[in-house]
Amino acid sequence: MSEETDNLEKIAKEVSACEKCKLYPTRKKAVPGDGPANAKIMFIGEGPGFHENEQGRPFVGAAGKFLSDLLASIGMKREEVFITNVVKCRPPQNRDPEVDELKACNAYLERQIALINPKVIVTLGRFSMEKFFPGSKVSAIHGQARTIGGRLVVAMFHPAAALHQPQYKSLIEQDFKKLPEYIAKVEAVQAAAPLVADDGAEQLSLF
Ligand code: URA
Ligand code: SF4
Repeated sequence: MSEETDNLEKIAKEVSACEKCKLYPTRKKAVPGDGPANAKIMFIGEGPGFHENEQGRPFVGAAGKFLSDLLASIGMKREEVFITNVVKCRPPQNRDPEVDELKACNAYLERQIALINPKVIVTLGRFSMEKFFPGSKVSAIHGQARTIGGRLVVAMFHPAAALHQPQYKSLIEQDFKKLPEYIAKVEAVQAAAPLVADDGAEQLSLF
């Protein structure tokens, strides 16, 4: 990176012109992610689908509508949170992202996490879960808050899967209800120990 300080617009610009993996030739619009730099929650999905590829924005289809409803259920608005994906370009026919693509795109996600410094990261579906909880299963760990690299991370089912499977739908609804409490706990810990806010690993070990 250059000496110029990093920012979300800079990342979005780089993503839009990126040719670092084999997903770039078939994308229509890259989807860097959306939301304010001071978002308390960051949601990480899988990758752009048809509508996202058309519009250049994440979660604008049916799964996005459900995500907005879930946020509303805890008194939050979509505009307050940051939403992105592990790959920023649409895999053809919505196939699963591949290892080389995830690897190539990871640096953008890391920069977004570093800039936003969210209180809580929520992974949606198995590909973003795998980044933080390798080898786990969403069905085994969903809704549980874990401290990873000094941050609180919660894995949840993908809203698209939850839309089509009623048993997942009620689980993701219940998991969302835990988010305000998780944010409050992180804020309480950080307020009690402002000088070690950077060293969250120790401070958040109560989870
Ligand atoms: N599903 C995802 O994982 N991401 C999107 O942006 C849209 C649907
Ligand atoms: Fe670049 Fe990520 Fe798009 Fe691949 S998916 S071309 S790494 S922005």
